[in-house]
Amino acid sequence: MKKITRRSFNTTLSVGIGAMLNSTKACAETLQDGKKLGMALVGLGSYSEYQLAPSLQDTQHTYLAGIVTGTPEKAAKWTEKYGLDKKNIYNYENFDDIADNDDIDIVYVVLPNSMHADFCIRAAKAGKHVICEKPMAVSVVECDAIIKACNQAGVKLSVGYRLHSEPYTQELMKIVKEKKFGEVNFVSADAAYISRGNPNQWRLDRKLSGGGALMNMGVYSIQSAIYGSGQNPTSVSAQEFSTRPEYFKDTDETISAQFEFPNGAVGNIYTSHNANINRHYSSFEKGWVELEPANNYGPLSGRTSGGVTLSYPHERQQKLQMDDFAHHIMYGSVNKVPGEMGKRDMIIVEAIYESIREGGEKISLDLGNMGIVTG
Ligand code: NAD
Repeated sequence: MKKITRRSFNTTLSVGIGAMLNSTKACAETLQDGKKLGMALVGLGSYSEYQLAPSLQDTQHTYLAGIVTGTPEKAAKWTEKYGLDKKNIYNYENFDDIADNDDIDIVYVVLPNSMHADFCIRAAKAGKHVICEKPMAVSVVECDAIIKACNQAGVKLSVGYRLHSEPYTQELMKIVKEKKFGEVNFVSADAAYISRGNPNQWRLDRKLSGGGALMNMGVYSIQSAIYGSGQNPTSVSAQEFSTRPEYFKDTDETISAQFEFPNGAVGNIYTSHNANINRHYSSFEKGWVELEPANNYGPLSGRTSGGVTLSYPHERQQKLQMDDFAHHIMYGSVNKVPGEMGKRDMIIVEAIYESIREGGEKISLDLGNMGIVTG
């Protein structure tokens, strides 16, 4: 069995005193202002256009203040549509000038995965708080570099895992944490959709995506296996399947992986770009919880043993997520998705790819409670 350790785990503990003081001062100033924090979206693709920008029209603690785009036509369209101030419009080349713009407090990086690290680090160096879309980066090394840059700059960092702000998911986490049905003994987490679009899209280009289904959807399975069990896995074994190699030339199509957890529970995750599945199941000593759908934009749907149907009013998950992060910056509430969580998931992603390369060999993981948020 191979062993993976917490590489440079301590980078997260290396926050300089000066940086902490800067951050505290910034919070105090924001509190006095009582203002909404200004957010700039970097990359105006489909997620920014159809999810984030509309959600930012409803957020309580943050608002759309600026954009960063390489396409002048998009800049003009967005400026008019959202009434943006022209001085808050940047392109990828002059992006670093954002350091001098007091309207922008948070930079949200919504670019292809291999571009996350560069823009997150530049945003941190510009003194802006950062939200980085999932997957956090394309390697653990890059995740470390983002975390280090944010720590050095004294800015806050989050990853775009919107489900941590979503009520069905929060109820699952609560049931696990409070052991409502006793100890968890099995989790199953599936996240997959059929990709049939342009074969040259960046998600199928390893240089830009870092990997295929696992990077794109598999991180949701990894996430829900962990919050659906309340623990980080101690080992993983994985298998890859390919049925459309002519389309998935450069990236993984389908991956299945099995986890072992510290309390003896086991888990199975499945991810694919060649099936439509969106489901979570946690089994406990005295009951179960099922979410289906479990990770789309909602509304989610869920049931528990005892004939209970979960029911919550629907709000945009992205609105809840961005408000939670702005609230964390302004009022010091818990950061529901810290950078360490994104890094932990990338350690698991790398272990899964390693297991596949080694013919399904079990890879041991030494994650401790890394990325597990309590409170
Ligand atoms: P998209 O293809 O729709 O948009 C990508 C954007 O990046 C476009 O504006 C494009 O112009 C720009 N870009 C800059 N350089 C590029 C290059 N070299 N190649 C391709 N595009 C380039 O993608 P998307 O769906 O908006 O995804 C963006 C990020 O958001 C990804 O990291 C993705 O994983 C993440 N995402 C997260 C969620 C979620 O639910 N949290 C959902 C969708 C996407």
